[in-house]
Amino acid sequence: MVIKEPKSKKPVKQGMLDNVMRQFDHAADLLELNPNIRKILEVTNNELLVHFPVRMDDGTVKIFTGYRVQHNNALGPYKGGLRYHPTVDIDAAKALAMWMTWKTSLAGLPFGGAKGGIQLDPSRYSQEELQRITRRFTFALGDNIGPELDIPAPDVNTTAQTMAWILDTYMSTKSPAERSTNLHVVTGKPIGAGGSAGRDRATGYGVYLTIKFWAETRGHTLHGKTFAVQGFGNVGYWASHFLEEEGGVLIGVQDASGTLYRAEGIDVGELAEYARANRGRIHGFSKASPIDSGDFFGLDCDILIPAALGNQITAKNAPDIKASLIAEGANGPTDVSAEAILLEKQVDIIPDILCNSGGVIGSYFEWLQNKNSEIWPMEEVMDRLEKKMRESFNRVTAEAEERQVDWRSAAFIIAIERLADAYTQRGIFP
Ligand code: GLU
Repeated sequence: MVIKEPKSKKPVKQGMLDNVMRQFDHAADLLELNPNIRKILEVTNNELLVHFPVRMDDGTVKIFTGYRVQHNNALGPYKGGLRYHPTVDIDAAKALAMWMTWKTSLAGLPFGGAKGGIQLDPSRYSQEELQRITRRFTFALGDNIGPELDIPAPDVNTTAQTMAWILDTYMSTKSPAERSTNLHVVTGKPIGAGGSAGRDRATGYGVYLTIKFWAETRGHTLHGKTFAVQGFGNVGYWASHFLEEEGGVLIGVQDASGTLYRAEGIDVGELAEYARANRGRIHGFSKASPIDSGDFFGLDCDILIPAALGNQITAKNAPDIKASLIAEGANGPTDVSAEAILLEKQVDIIPDILCNSGGVIGSYFEWLQNKNSEIWPMEEVMDRLEKKMRESFNRVTAEAEERQVDWRSAAFIIAIERLADAYTQRGIFP
């Protein structure tokens, strides 16, 4: 007798979690990953959801929801950012935590992967309110974070200031003896509060470096190459800055406030100055023309840098893309169906876990300095960062060549293999 399986009523989810799982499955299949290790890596170790009250400026009390997902710590303490955005939920945190595990593994760091944040739109709160929200969230996380356990960092809409508040709150809950030895509970701090030289630009510099390595691989130079950036926050700004320094021409920019275009080039410094005075928004900048947001990904340029949120490049806009390179400054900007279309069109994609890994590598340097009571000069940080980025880039392109696969699959394979080795050698308790 054949028993028919009931058809699943679950809607097909097109979110980031679905995306990262499909990327993982694809690489695990190529690798013929041991099924037991696959089971372990498919799930998150811990998922924390907290509700906490905060007093608003007008005296009312509001309840916020925060998340911290710890995916895997086989290679070291959990590591990853905190984002403040309305799209933060448990599935988004799970997906982003998994990407962190692959990212730290690929970079050869002694870290695992985590991610979290608060579901809110920070533009609706004052700085004082954001400070109280951050401090109360840190208190709610309690000892679920720690310098040798789980180390947060900045992500979308969180800054060095946010990290300083977290550090100060965490320290304040510790005994006097522990207070001076916990600086490395967060990274991405302001320099005065134990941060590292260069951490502010590390992600954008890393994005730029991978683009430079790509150009070398393809026998080009960056001089005169046109590029468009989605997101003009920390990553988008610094990547644009370094590309412009190398002769690249910024022709398009998009953020939540609008989309700008100028064929002759947009001055990165001028736009940054304008945005700084305009609560970070590019809308209204007079030295470029506003265009329809739907036209952004189809802009005629050599390089596209999504440096904002996930799932921005989809099967809907991928066919319009004219760029020959997509450098993923954001986490998960290209969904799997778009990727198939782009690979078919022979567009190169530098995958997020490689392209934006400069941030967490910079965090590792900050963590090491705090742990060892050292202070490295900017030059040393940047040199070490470049060396690590080059190593990762070369390993990914060599693996892709050897296996005849795309760069994302190659990057995932390297990351997963390192974790698989750790589990094979350690075994499963008990
Ligand atoms: N939020 C950044 C990322 O997605 C940095 C994480 C970190 O430095 O821990 O990679």
